[in-house]
Amino acid sequence: MKLATKIGHAIKEMMSKKYASKNAPRQHSEDRSAVRRIVEKWNFHERQNRSAGVVTDWIIDSKWSAKTRANFDRTLDQLKSQPKKSWSKPNPASKIGNHTYVIRFKDVSSSQLRLFGHFFDEHDTFVMTMEGYEKDDVYYPKNYESMAEAYRVECDKDFFITTSPFEDFCDICDK
Ligand SMILES: [Zn+2]
Repeated sequence: MKLATKIGHAIKEMMSKKYASKNAPRQHSEDRSAVRRIVEKWNFHERQNRSAGVVTDWIIDSKWSAKTRANFDRTLDQLKSQPKKSWSKPNPASKIGNHTYVIRFKDVSSSQLRLFGHFFDEHDTFVMTMEGYEKDDVYYPKNYESMAEAYRVECDKDFFITTSPFEDFCDICDK
């Protein structure tokens, strides 16, 4: 073997060892995230509007009763362990657009409250982007799909600026 080839081989081997050790911790964290994906425990974020969360604002502005709030919490608790494909009836959420999902729950007067949003897989999160309601099997606002899609694009662009964890519903941001 020519000396130059020998040196070439040695360098290649060195580089590959260096590469392997450099990537070892990353590999480990990828494994952990794979485990989390199998468990499918979703976090919940809300869209930011003028530095306030839209869901938090909605809850305050519409002066939700304790019962409405309890209904909502129960709904999120139920959904957070459901894989995406189970976000459909009879569970309290459904896919209703290309990327858009709706979460269903009731307020005390049995009004059908709705929250529209999308999944952001990199953060194992469902992002709630806008409020609405359902009446006679029709969702409002009527242009929910185009609005939700525009919010999705906006939120995906800079996730940590355009969204924030919804209360303590994000285990990743909590740490
Ligand atoms: Zn988070």
